[in-house]
Amino acid sequence: MRHLIIIGSGPAGYTAAIYAARANLEPLVIASSVEFGGELMKTTEVENFPGFPEGIMGPELMTRMQEQAERFGAEIVYDDVVSLELEGPVKRVTLGDGSVHEAHAVIYATGSAYRKLGIPDEERLSGYGVSWCATCDGAFFRQKKVAVIGGGDSALEEATFLTRFADVVYLIHRRDSFRASAAMQERAFADPKIQVIWNNEVAHIYGDEKVTGIGIVNTVDGTETTLDVQGMFVAIGADPRTHLVHGQLDLAPEGTIAVEGRSSKTSLPGVFAAGDVVDPTYKQAATAAGSGVVAALDAEHYLADIADAEKAELVATPR
Ligand code: NAP
Repeated sequence: MRHLIIIGSGPAGYTAAIYAARANLEPLVIASSVEFGGELMKTTEVENFPGFPEGIMGPELMTRMQEQAERFGAEIVYDDVVSLELEGPVKRVTLGDGSVHEAHAVIYATGSAYRKLGIPDEERLSGYGVSWCATCDGAFFRQKKVAVIGGGDSALEEATFLTRFADVVYLIHRRDSFRASAAMQERAFADPKIQVIWNNEVAHIYGDEKVTGIGIVNTVDGTETTLDVQGMFVAIGADPRTHLVHGQLDLAPEGTIAVEGRSSKTSLPGVFAAGDVVDPTYKQAATAAGSGVVAALDAEHYLADIADAEKAELVATPR
């Protein structure tokens, strides 16, 4: 049986792995079969992670974190968790290949999943012009017109990135002010290829085999407009990935996993949570990394307490 299993391989999971491996806990990291490295694998340049004054590409940052965790003895498995048994002193993690892994403690750092608009044809045209990842799909839209939906940092970052390829980027937001950081806003407003459309929501996506246009509705006066675009990038935030722990761990009102105070302790002993799955507010790579540190230290103390209790029991009941 392992000391510790870490589920998730974003900044929280890998940072927890670095700390836990350095504490000789030999953690097993379940990194997912397709989405290993977390959200930063889908971003371009990360300018605000401390220690990289020139910026660093998201995938490179994640590769470095992974190598750092492995250097100290973390073992990484590229598979998905299909079920979890978290109650009791032995935690069981079942993977997609059917293997079952047991540990005294688990750190849950599964991040969040992109939100969908929930409108007709969004699913059907996903991969055929509808996308959630400009870095993955942007190059398909050279000299085309695209729309980006949202008003946060993600939407503005995607819009700015897409100007490398597309001729026109419509940035469609449901209100008349962005929630994105000032730096992101300045960059977007200064870009002649970005056309901001305030107070509008997407109601229709047109196209039989590929996106050919979208229908938008003004949230103030209800007027409808059709935009001729070949791509639509949805960047309206993300929801914490908690489906594996429903019914096992308590959730906060925001839908994130509930933790005790500033710790990573969940409602079950020996189960710790870190990163975006516990954070409804900040959601930064650096805060996720810090939260991974907290989880690793909490797990280390928990495991030390268990070891002490076992020793005390042996002393109390000598053979
Ligand atoms: P976010 O900050 O939650 O913004 C989501 C945006 O989508 C909001 O403008 C919201 O509108 C809009 N929206 C939500 N649901 C919608 C719907 N159904 N239809 C239309 N619009 C909808 O999400 P995010 O931009 O993904 O950012 C998440 C976190 O990651 C933030 O903390 C952000 O700072 C961080 N982040 C940082 C960077 C960076 O620093 N480089 C890059 C990306 C993300 P309202 O404004 O009206 O609510």
